[in-house]
Amino acid sequence: MKSDWKETERQAEQRRLMVERQIRARGVRDERVLEAMRTIPRHLFVPPALRPRAYEDSPLPTSEGQTISQPYIVAWMTDLLRLKGEEVVLEVGTGSGYQAAILTRLAAKVYTIERISALAESARTILSELGLDNVEVVVGDGTRGLPEHAPYKGIIVTAGGPRVPDVLVEQLDEGGRLVMPVGPSSLQMLTVVEKRGGRIFTEQKGSCVFVPLIGQHGWE
Ligand code: SAH
Repeated sequence: MKSDWKETERQAEQRRLMVERQIRARGVRDERVLEAMRTIPRHLFVPPALRPRAYEDSPLPTSEGQTISQPYIVAWMTDLLRLKGEEVVLEVGTGSGYQAAILTRLAAKVYTIERISALAESARTILSELGLDNVEVVVGDGTRGLPEHAPYKGIIVTAGGPRVPDVLVEQLDEGGRLVMPVGPSSLQMLTVVEKRGGRIFTEQKGSCVFVPLIGQHGWE
C-alpha cells in the first residue's frame, strides 16, 4: 500500500476510535481484521461531500443510488470469512471498493465484481491510487460468480438476495466460507455457508439490511 495519500490527524484519530468503539466493542477481536480497518482510509471511498461523516457508525450513500456499508458490518462480515492471508477471495458487489480494500490486507488475492461499470471504474481508480495491487475489479453479474478464477476460499456478497445462488456454492473451495445477506429487500439474515468434507453447512448470524442483489440468480 502506498503512503502518499492525504489525511488529517483528525481523520486518523477518528478511524482509531471507529475501530475501538464501533468494532472491537461489538465483539470483533481478530487483530488482523482490526488492523485492516485501522489502515484503510475509509474517507477516500465516500463522496467528497460526505467525508466529514466517513467515520460515523452508519452506512453512507455513494453514487448510482448505492451505499457503503456501516464500518461494523464490513468488519463483521470480514471476520466471518476467517481469512489467514493465503486465500483467493471473491467479492460480489464492489460498490465503492472499500470492502475490497479491506480484503486486500487479509487475503492473497481479491476478485471483486460489480454490475454498474461507473462504480467499478471509480473503485479501480482509488484502489490503484492506494497501491493495492492484489485486487482485480471485474464488471458483470456476480450472481453467477466468477468461474474463471474459482475455487475461492472466501466469497462475500455485499448485496441482499432471495437465496444463496448454487453457482456461488459450487465456486467455493473445500474449507471455504461464503457470507451473504439473504432474505426480502426490507430485512435480510446474514448467512454463512461452509464447505467441509464436501458437505455444506449453513448458519444464520443476525439481521442486516443491504441494497438488492440484482441479476440472474438474484432479484429481477
Ligand atoms: N461492498 C461495497 C458496498 C456494496 S453496495 C462497498 O464496500 O462499498 C452493493 C453493490 O452491489 C452495489 O454497488 C450494486 O451495484 C452491486 N450489485 C448488485 N447486484 C449485483 C450483481 N448481480 N453483481 C455485481 N454487483 C452487484
